[in-house]
Amino acid sequence: MNYSSTRDNKISYTSTKAIIKGLSPEGGLFVPDTIPFVNFEEIGKLSEMNYRERAKYILSRFLTDFTEDEIDNCVNSAYTKEKFGTDSIAPIYKLNNSSYILELWHGPTCAFKDMALQILPHLLVTSLKKNKIDKEIVILVATSGDTGKAALEGFADVAGTRINVFYPQEGVSKVQKLQMITQSGNNVNVSAVKGNFDDAQNGVKQMFTDEKFNTLTNNHNFSLSSANSINWGRLVPQIVYYFSAYADMVKAGEIRIGDKINVNVPTGNFGNILAAFYAKQMGLPINKLICSSNSNNVLTDFIKTGIYDRNRKFNLTISPSMDILISSNLERFLYILSGNNADEVNSYMQALKEEGKYEVSDTIKEKIESVMWGGFADDSETKATIREIKEKYDYVIDTHTAVAVSVQEKYVKETGDETKTVIASTASPFKFSKSVMQAIKNDECYGDGMDEFEILDKLSEISGEEIPKSLAELKTKTVLFDITCEKDEMQQMVKDFLRL
Ligand SMILES: *Cc1c(COP(=O)(O)O)cnc(C)c1O
Repeated sequence: MNYSSTRDNKISYTSTKAIIKGLSPEGGLFVPDTIPFVNFEEIGKLSEMNYRERAKYILSRFLTDFTEDEIDNCVNSAYTKEKFGTDSIAPIYKLNNSSYILELWHGPTCAFKDMALQILPHLLVTSLKKNKIDKEIVILVATSGDTGKAALEGFADVAGTRINVFYPQEGVSKVQKLQMITQSGNNVNVSAVKGNFDDAQNGVKQMFTDEKFNTLTNNHNFSLSSANSINWGRLVPQIVYYFSAYADMVKAGEIRIGDKINVNVPTGNFGNILAAFYAKQMGLPINKLICSSNSNNVLTDFIKTGIYDRNRKFNLTISPSMDILISSNLERFLYILSGNNADEVNSYMQALKEEGKYEVSDTIKEKIESVMWGGFADDSETKATIREIKEKYDYVIDTHTAVAVSVQEKYVKETGDETKTVIASTASPFKFSKSVMQAIKNDECYGDGMDEFEILDKLSEISGEEIPKSLAELKTKTVLFDITCEKDEMQQMVKDFLRL
């Protein structure tokens, strides 16, 4: 299986090359040229497997130029009980007879980004070896909070790689920031950017498409790559857990093979929900995908109207990892829905670049309506949901997961569709402890004047759950990166880091 670009059908790369490049040269995203099919018999087999075996099964269908041994090695290195604290890696918590919370945050950084970023460095290093590339890979990351730490954790001290993370100065939580600026490793660099996530992401994208910069790095034996969810190596491991969730529900007798489920995903860059869409295209019996946004509800409007319009106020919310107005992975969705029409995708992306806005064709609108439902929850609805779920089920969810749970309630109310639903839980509540405690206590000022770690203790008390070790440890870690740059200084930061 080869990989083409959403903006140029003539591109044809092996999966290893697509993973190494991250982004196609003309700015498009890599997409598999066919989507493999998994039938019910195979789903039955998956239900008897553990997470690692399921991952090997799904990954090998996409990464066809990897040998079985290579996939085994990558998966076995990434998804260990040691790193995830549980052998099920991505366990399901049954909230009630219709809502199943897929806990994707048991990895080392307490957010779902670990699901992909624990394996990506292994996929990348294997890809380099197979292509006999001796260049040093430079990973450039723009993060809305969670990707940065997860990428740092995945790439720190991986031979043959360096990583430079940019996070928006305003808009990440204290814990998220501490996680990043205390990162150790001899190949890492971290900087705040004066701007929001979109500014940081644009800065990184510009570096990828800047020919002069690429020539310069190339001449110094560096090769730029991305750990953002635009990299196919980030996306493909995320498909696995939707199969795994379904397989677990079959195994637990909650559904029978072939029964349809819905999947609800709290969405930012559209990567996680796109992985669920791929799973559906591959034959996983998914009825509706529910796309949940916070008050940066550009996707909700898009799903309802077919008009994507980023010209709107950017809101800082209590679910910062979803504070995004340009959802990069939407491009892959449009590519598939347009019947792999790169010209059409190009015209949308051109309009987005020039006017910050585009309207898709009626054909695409109809297709979106048939597979997806969009809704959003503002901060007060999100907090009310956290409180309600805690009171009703004695279960604590984080601010991102709560957006999805809130939208789920709206979806059921509006449509009457009570299909069993897997709700992606994307972060541990401890990662956003202040907002979570304010929600539970119904007190806007809770925690003001308390330090971050006192709040963690309170949340631990009230939830009866232990503080994840990696977060508790932050208390005594040294700050290593007290750096901030302007939007237009990002390239210079990288040059300094690489000594160019
Ligand atoms: C990244 C992130 C999201 C959004 O995921 P996308 O793949 O960008 O849509 C949601 N919740 C949390 C906690 C995240 O870290």
